[in-house]
Amino acid sequence: MTNLPPAMLIATPPTFATVEEERLHRKQRLAASFRLFSKCGFDEGVAGHITARDPELTDHFWVNPFAMHFSQIKVSDLILVNEHGEVVQGNQPVNAAAFAIHSQVHAARPDVVAAAHSHSVHGRAWSTLARKLDPLTQDACAFYDDHVVFDDYTGVVLDTEEGKRIAHALADHKAVILRNHGLLTVGHSVEEAVWWFVTMERTCQAQLLAEAAGTPVLIDHDMAKLTKTQVGEHVSGYANFGPLYQKITLEQPDLFD
Ligand SMILES: [Zn+2]
Repeated sequence: MTNLPPAMLIATPPTFATVEEERLHRKQRLAASFRLFSKCGFDEGVAGHITARDPELTDHFWVNPFAMHFSQIKVSDLILVNEHGEVVQGNQPVNAAAFAIHSQVHAARPDVVAAAHSHSVHGRAWSTLARKLDPLTQDACAFYDDHVVFDDYTGVVLDTEEGKRIAHALADHKAVILRNHGLLTVGHSVEEAVWWFVTMERTCQAQLLAEAAGTPVLIDHDMAKLTKTQVGEHVSGYANFGPLYQKITLEQPDLFD
């Protein structure tokens, strides 16, 4: 029995005849996601990374090259990094923090295809409070009982041991708030991980605004749990990415190059 709105049920992820097709699908969504992150203002110098596990070499992941602006990234710019942090496809370097964090998340969570992290402003501001998000809105319920706070800060994450600690804190949830740093989301697809990031950043913004204005009313436990089943499932994350992908690929078709 599902509580999903009927329209969500038709938006199921595709299946692929070959790994080549699946790899291309992931890389196209990944390149589009960087363009979306740029449009959303999630860039901050060289910070931020989204990774997609390779469908064949499952301990390798595709990621943005170090120091390339999100708004410029094309499919052909994506680099493939192995489990030792070596770039095995592409001739640009990998961000050391991207490897330290994402390699450990992918290793700890075989179900996770993609992980997204950036220093978006509202996620960063919220992270300083070391609190989980409350079920204040329908959208916030996607994270109800499904995110954690990594309640530590030890400088820029360059060590895979720190990445392991983050992955351990994340456990089987869809998101982790890295204290004094920002947000990290994961999903069973690039689409899903990126949607959770976009909506979590806005959820942080909404809670910051609501708490600045007064004392918000929380959605009660039973309703928050129910709403989580309606807006917080894998298929919801996948489906919500669709309109963003439509918009960015029409506007910026060079991302497919
Ligand atoms: Zn970071």
